[in-house]
Amino acid sequence: MTCYNCQKEIVEGSRYCYHCGAAQKPLTPPPGVRKPLRRSRKHKVIAGVCGGFAEHFGLDVSLMRVIWLLIALFGGGGLIAYLICWVVVPLEEAQSAAPVPISQQS
Ligand SMILES: [Zn+2]
Repeated sequence: MTCYNCQKEIVEGSRYCYHCGAAQKPLTPPPGVRKPLRRSRKHKVIAGVCGGFAEHFGLDVSLMRVIWLLIALFGGGGLIAYLICWVVVPLEEAQSAAPVPISQQS
């Protein structure tokens, strides 16, 4: 690969150029690929907040629950944050296969 800054040849996968020191572009997906923050229907235990955050940040759902639980237990703000997210963060769009809500049935 070549350094995008100085165009000199560097080892494939290098994170920094050793000629000019410029940070190379990371191999993570470009902005815009990341899913919008929505409460998850698929990974839902209470309100889908943890699942939604996990999908948004590309993390494991279980890991996100553990992190959130630790914040709730030791930081004290986790539970309040969860409730706020429950209200503020919209639920993700229903899949086409999802059952019709009771309110729309005649
Ligand atoms: Zn360089």
